[in-house]
Amino acid sequence: MSKKLLVANWKMNLGMEDSSQLASSFAKLAGDCNKSEIWIAPAFPAIAPVAQAVKGSGIHVGAQNVHWEETGSFTGEVSATMLKDCGADFAIVGHSERRNLLSELPPIAARRALGALKLGMHVIFCIGETLSKRKSEKTFQVIDEQLSPCLDGVSDEEAERLIIAYEPVWAIGTGNVATRQQILEAHEYVARVWDEFIPDVQPRILYGGSVSAENFAEILTIPVVHGGLIGGASLSVEKFEPIIRLAEG
Ligand code: PEP
Repeated sequence: MSKKLLVANWKMNLGMEDSSQLASSFAKLAGDCNKSEIWIAPAFPAIAPVAQAVKGSGIHVGAQNVHWEETGSFTGEVSATMLKDCGADFAIVGHSERRNLLSELPPIAARRALGALKLGMHVIFCIGETLSKRKSEKTFQVIDEQLSPCLDGVSDEEAERLIIAYEPVWAIGTGNVATRQQILEAHEYVARVWDEFIPDVQPRILYGGSVSAENFAEILTIPVVHGGLIGGASLSVEKFEPIIRLAEG
């Protein structure tokens, strides 16, 4: 049985000092973890201090975005090589806040993921439908459109470092967690699409969207859920610790 993966997405919250302090608290909690792994994605400036704060704890540190090239004239972008220099070994790619608020289209998200995988990083690739797409029964179509460009061209070795996060947009930060049936159907669909491209590697699929201590126990019982991508509830020890306890069973 692989460990449950708990990925804390701190978004554009917490400065360097607050990030280091919270990371140190998570590092203490990680000492008791046997059935779960904690990964933290702070804002770019806090990556190096967070990596320092969690050193030796087994916690992975990552970025919330990454460019596909190693260096060059790409103002405002950061490469996987630079992130690795700061202590990061994974990147979140294609988060809905980038897709919807910053108009990042599927080919760009896919390029970011493929470039980072090539440079040796782990990638958490986010996909998910808006409420209007769900209402018009286009959820699976959206999953296809977002996922296929990323899976097309991934080698088996790279696929071992690729994790998919299914995050319905309407569930992110809203308190409206998806139902058991909605999560099950979406994750099974993701696994089917994955199998078309990468039949020799098992997919790892996280659920994200208003995960909390109140709903995570049930989410973890859903087959094909390998953990959670957690925003709001990862911003304090009080909210995150009970989630870890649930993953530890
Ligand atoms: C997220 O940021 O990916 C997320 C799922 O946020 P929240 O847990 O706050 O809904």
